[in-house]
Amino acid sequence: MTDDILLQVERVTKTYGTAAGALTVLHEVSFALRTGESCAIVGPSGSGKTTLLGLCAGLDEPTTGTVRLAGRELHGLTEDDRARIRNEAVGFVFQNFQLIPTLTAFENVLIPLELGAAGANGQSEALARDLLDRVGLGARQHHYPLQLSGGEQQRVALARAFINRPRILFCDEPTGNLDGDTAGAMTELIFGLNRERGTTLVLVTHDLELARRTGRILRLRNGAVTADECT
Ligand code: ADP
Ligand code: MG
Repeated sequence: MTDDILLQVERVTKTYGTAAGALTVLHEVSFALRTGESCAIVGPSGSGKTTLLGLCAGLDEPTTGTVRLAGRELHGLTEDDRARIRNEAVGFVFQNFQLIPTLTAFENVLIPLELGAAGANGQSEALARDLLDRVGLGARQHHYPLQLSGGEQQRVALARAFINRPRILFCDEPTGNLDGDTAGAMTELIFGLNRERGTTLVLVTHDLELARRTGRILRLRNGAVTADECT
């Protein structure tokens, strides 16, 4: 393994216990990404894309197999240790945004830092304002999520994912809830921030135009990788 591998997924499986018995939703998935690479994960609904993204980001643990992220083996770490690695290295945009309704857009963007050891300071507040400007919400920073449209909430979620200057950004269907124009603007933002900051990018998407903008497409079907091709 060379040093510039940022994410290494090896023979990862995930099995959920359900009322109907054990359900294996990922079957020995393997791939690796170098620093600065971008990759799209595509596949039908239910093929395991969100599950795989969560395992890569250290939000959950595989049943078998290993994930190595930013030089750290995630296996066997405590939840606190995984949270620390996420805080230092990972940005995540959830499919349903997961903004906190009682916090303003500005406060939502600062959440990852408040959880971090350093907390927010004048510099990070300036970065939060800058990121909200970048996503076109500078004038809306003191609005609450319910006062924002779906697309605007998604842009707040993107700004939040960049506040800790992540080495790797995971986005789960970042244009899934957006109309054509807003989806295009979101795509430009993701790749713009990716270029400027050298962030490694992993996107789950149904949007083939978005997928083709990445350097690589990983196809999932029934929890297995059926193709891994450069675009
Ligand atoms: P995708 O994002 O590709 O639509 P998911 O990763 O969300 O797929 O889900 C893959 C499969 O795993 C689905 O069949 C889903 O129902 C199942 N699944 C996801 N999470 C759980 C869970 N916590 N318990 C049981 N089954 C789950
Ligand atoms: Mg999903």
